[in-house]
Parts: sequence; C-alpha cells; structure tokens
Amino acid sequence: MQVPAQTQGVLERALDGKAPARDEMVHLLRYPEHSLESGIIRAVANRITRERSRNLAVVSGQIGYAASPCDGDCVFCAFSAAHFHLPRVEMSTEEVVEHATTLTSNGVLSGVSLMSMHQFDFRRFLDLLAAVRAAVPAYVRISANVGDITAEQAKELKAAGASGAYHQIRLREGIDTRLDREERIRTVRNIQEAGLRWGFCCEPIGPEHTPEELADHILFGMSLRPSYCAAMRRVFLPNSPIAARGQITELRLAQIVAVSALAALADPAIIFIGAHEPNLICLTSGANSVYAEIGANPRDESIETSQNLGLSVDDCTRMIYEAGFDGALQGDGKTIPVSSVLGIKDARGPHTTTTTTTTNFRTPLFDAN
Ligand code: SF4
Repeated sequence: MQVPAQTQGVLERALDGKAPARDEMVHLLRYPEHSLESGIIRAVANRITRERSRNLAVVSGQIGYAASPCDGDCVFCAFSAAHFHLPRVEMSTEEVVEHATTLTSNGVLSGVSLMSMHQFDFRRFLDLLAAVRAAVPAYVRISANVGDITAEQAKELKAAGASGAYHQIRLREGIDTRLDREERIRTVRNIQEAGLRWGFCCEPIGPEHTPEELADHILFGMSLRPSYCAAMRRVFLPNSPIAARGQITELRLAQIVAVSALAALADPAIIFIGAHEPNLICLTSGANSVYAEIGANPRDESIETSQNLGLSVDDCTRMIYEAGFDGALQGDGKTIPVSSVLGIKDARGPHTTTTTTTTNFRTPLFDAN
C-alpha cells in the first residue's frame, strides 16, 4: 500500500512532532474525505492527539441563555435579524443555575460556557456568572461566550470567576457577517491580556470554503496563540439566505479537524482539539474535546437545542468512551474514568495496552487558571 511521497513525508514529519507548512495543509485538505489518504491523515492525527493528551478527553457544556434578532446578521446563524423566526427567550438566573447544576451532575464536566447574543447586557452577564460560579463545583471552569468586549470588561469577567472566553473571527468575517473583523481580533487580545484562556475554532465551515481558505484560516488562528483549537461545520438552516450552499459531511469535518490537530503541533501547549457538533468520526480523527449544549444555539432552529441538535453530558460521556478515551479531564486536572461514570465494567482487553504511547505529553495538561 502506498500513498503519494509528499503526503507520506508530511505525515512522517508530523509523527516526529513537526507541524505541516501552509502548502502541505492545503495538500492534505485537497483529498476527498472518503479517500484512503484522508483516512491515513485522520489516523495520524488521532495518534498524535492521544499521545499529547495521554488518551484523555474533555467534556464541556454550554448554556445559551438568550435568543433574539441580532444585528450581526451572520448569514449562517439562526439568530440573524434578517431571517430570525424563533421565539425570543431570556432565561431567568434560576433557570441558568438549574441548567448548570444539571450539566455538572455526573462529575465529568470540565467547564461551563455561558453564551449571550452579540449584543448583551454586560452587568446581567456578570450576575449570571457569579450565580453559576457559586452553584457549581470549584473544579468546573466557567467560560464567557459573548459579543465584543473591552479590555476593562475582560478583566471584570476574570475577576468575577471566569477562566476563559470563547470569541471567534469567523471564515469570511465581514462578508458573511456585518461584524468588524478587526474589532473581533481586538476582543481576542483583550481576553488574552486579561489572563483568560481563549481557544480558536475554524468556523463555520461550508462546502464553499477552499483548502487554501481553510489552511489560511487555521494558521491565522494559530498566530493568535490559542489555548486550544477546534473546527466547526455550518449546519444547514433551511431559512438562511445561504441554504443553497449546503453542508459538509461529518467525514469532511473530521478531515479538517485532523489537519487542525496537525497544525496544532506548532504549539506544544495545545492539547485539546474540539469538533462541533461532536461525533465519533471526529473523535477518532484528532479531536478530544466535546460540548453538551442547552438552550439557544445559533446552529439550531429549535429554541431548545437539547431537544434537537445539542448533546447531553451523558451523550458526550458515552461518545468519548466509545471513541476509546481512557478518561475525562476535569477543570482542575483530575482524571475521571468514563467507564465508571457510565456504570460500565471496562471490558477492553490486553490489545489496548499497546495502542497509546506517551512520549510527548506535558504535565500538567491544564494550566493553573
Ligand atoms: S453568530 Fe453571533 S453575531 Fe452573528 S447573528 Fe448570530 S448571534 Fe449575532
């Protein structure tokens, strides 16, 4: 069995710890997702991520506490004012706390993200953050998924108990959105300078994004020095103005996740690679980070995503077990064996002892934040 020499060279260098260059990423992304080469790329990324994470995964949860028409008008988002047709919602503090308590109840969750709309009431967000901080175990990290914020606001989030913030510069930002790309970059800088963890996600990926565009965007994200990486596909929303562009497959997403995992070799601090929506193909292609979701979700036309697209913590826990991860890492770095959480006697046999080497990991896997 042979793969082209260029592909083999890139993958062998990756197994030696060297990230692919831009043109090499483009080369890997040009393969059809169902090709032999794509399967090998995914297998190599899978091996690398499991080595870097000691075969551990993280489960996080997100609560979308509000939904209303948004002036960001992102063509891919269910909340865009131009095509919003959902009921408006704003959860009470008690509802948010109840969801946070549910998400953390099986002890697996590493962190909870609170998601606002792009335009949001910052003081109310701080109140919600404080209420959730008080309700969930200390090992659960809290993250803010909010609109653009100032340096001062980022410091206030940190002081109120946030450990991180999710904020993206999306593919074709300013073209498929009305938002200002430079302002979003400034927000990322504000987040980082406040001492909050920030992760990059290549999103929202659709069939129209070329290998060159994807490689450039992944490298742009890496240049911002993220703490973790992810890739997310755009979900087909029949009411959106770009519905005709369609949706990529989970298999193509897994190939892009794999190339992202290889690109992340450039930074030894990046141990966790996410995939949205989480699925087993991605979790065996270099991803090791999954999200459960409750409430509003910009990729979902159901106002309560846990009844449609969003996975539960139990779904995520089972998924990382089925993908063969040994455990889930809590926010304080403790490992929870997922088989015990699921009440399954781990029946994996002696063949598992030779599948994972641990030559390349750092201790601790999480920093002290
Ligand atoms: S993705 Fe965010 S900024 Fe864009 S329309 Fe949706 S809520 Fe608004």
